[in-house]
Amino acid sequence: MPPPPDAGSIEALLVLVREARAMVAFTGAGISTECGVPDFRSPGSPWMRNKPIPFDAFMASEDARAEAWRRKFAMDDEFAGASPGRGHRALARLVSLGRMQAVVTQNIDGLHQASGLGSGQVIELHGNGTYATCLQCGLRHELGVIRRAFEVHRSLPCCDDCGGIVKSATISFGQQMPAARLRQAQELATNCDLFLVAGSSLVVYPAATLPLLAKRAGATLVIVNGEPTEFDAIADLVVRGDIGAALEPLLWVE
Ligand code: NAD
Repeated sequence: MPPPPDAGSIEALLVLVREARAMVAFTGAGISTECGVPDFRSPGSPWMRNKPIPFDAFMASEDARAEAWRRKFAMDDEFAGASPGRGHRALARLVSLGRMQAVVTQNIDGLHQASGLGSGQVIELHGNGTYATCLQCGLRHELGVIRRAFEVHRSLPCCDDCGGIVKSATISFGQQMPAARLRQAQELATNCDLFLVAGSSLVVYPAATLPLLAKRAGATLVIVNGEPTEFDAIADLVVRGDIGAALEPLLWVE
């Protein structure tokens, strides 16, 4: 975990947040590390253990689908019981006060919803790993049922309604990001007065274009992260250090 930010930058963040009237947050894996969910790029990341299975391979082969489900359930076991951290709770509070319009996230862990945000208040650009969907008709499927059938009978899930292939509701490498969600995130970035980035290395596109969009539309840009990002140069404030420590004081903003 990075050390806490210096008191001056936390105070500067508080001043900007108190002045803002229409904030939007953009979160990445770094906001969930204090909850026990490792991020993607930090050394030793379990997400890097295996070469990712691209979307085309998942669709083309039963073996690839079986391997994807095996890995998925193994990863789920590692982070079972993760609950929202200080950052999630602070952002949920700002939304509940009507000061923050929504949280756009790259995360798939469902911790923003667990902190109290409704589905319309979280825009998940890379999907959600806590359930599955049919790739043909979009019907939601629960992981518990899929897991039991997979572990007991080695059977791969297909949709009861249409027979389509069922996949974890996350966006894989090579899978198209839902255009409507990206558009919604772009609109939020364009119309906010403060765009608060927390815990992203800002290297995954097109999600990483959002801070630039917000800045060009006139928003104040704040980046909270443990290490530098390539967008720090255009930020109005960079808060370097642990996200939980940086965002915790926002829990008491009126
Ligand atoms: P990333 O791993 O590329 O970057 C995370 C950043 O957060 C890093 O710069 C790291 O230094 C910083 N960080 C980690 N813990 C921190 C802390 N406590 N305080 C301050 N900074 C901290 O993550 P990304 O940019 O979100 O991209 C990763 C991709 O992988 C995303 O697309 C996401 O879908 C997926 N992913 C999601 C999760 C999750 O849902 N929790 C976890 C891993 C990967």
